[in-house]
Amino acid sequence: MNVILLGYPGSGKGTLAKDLVQSLGLVHVSTGDILRDEIAKKTPLGTEATSYMTSGRLVPDRLVMDMLKARLGTETRGLLFDGFPRTVEQAESLDAWFESKGQSIDAVIFLKVEEDVVVQRLGSRRTCTGCGKIYNAISSPPAKENVCDVCAKPLMTREDDKPAVIVRRIQVYKDQTEPLLAYYRSSGVFHEADGGQPPAAVTEKVSALLKK
Ligand code: ADP
Ligand code: ZN
Repeated sequence: MNVILLGYPGSGKGTLAKDLVQSLGLVHVSTGDILRDEIAKKTPLGTEATSYMTSGRLVPDRLVMDMLKARLGTETRGLLFDGFPRTVEQAESLDAWFESKGQSIDAVIFLKVEEDVVVQRLGSRRTCTGCGKIYNAISSPPAKENVCDVCAKPLMTREDDKPAVIVRRIQVYKDQTEPLLAYYRSSGVFHEADGGQPPAAVTEKVSALLKK
């Protein structure tokens, strides 16, 4: 089964993905995480991607596609895409790539959340510097302030979760990613879920959808 998660930044794709990969045995493919890893490793790709990411713009399609194909290699089944595709061009490339491998997309899940809610969530999002676990300083803080419950490493605020960059990312989503809803709506595998609920409720709803 190959699944795509769609939604605003801050709609809960990453949190949901981490739950689903455990329960369904899928491979989590977060282009954002992969890009941050390339930046941490100071690869040429990471260097090229940095300015786009810190300013809240999308990394060029060509870079993202090359990176993805290199990372996934021959593995094209059982993938859970989180943060990809983000443009119609990426969606078309994914379709072509899957077709060449005899693979297809089995479900597209759109996490629907109001804009003001995502803005608020992104502003209070904290990310573990060790294991990447996502917290919310207000609605789901760690037991000990700024310390990860799982690995005890400090939490941080991502560079692109600063207020000015959040505004840009929301606009980029509307301009470049929202058209994907129309692209996938007619595909026959499109589902919508209320992303405004607490994480456990969202996971339960989406798991039930995928098991059908
Ligand atoms: P969020 O979903 O909260 O915005 P991500 O980690 O998915 O967080 O993405 C962070 C940034 O990484 C994006 O703002 C963008 O610059 C870059 N990025 C991630 N995925 C893609 C993609 N598929 N295409 C282009 N840029 C991407
Ligand atoms: Zn951690």
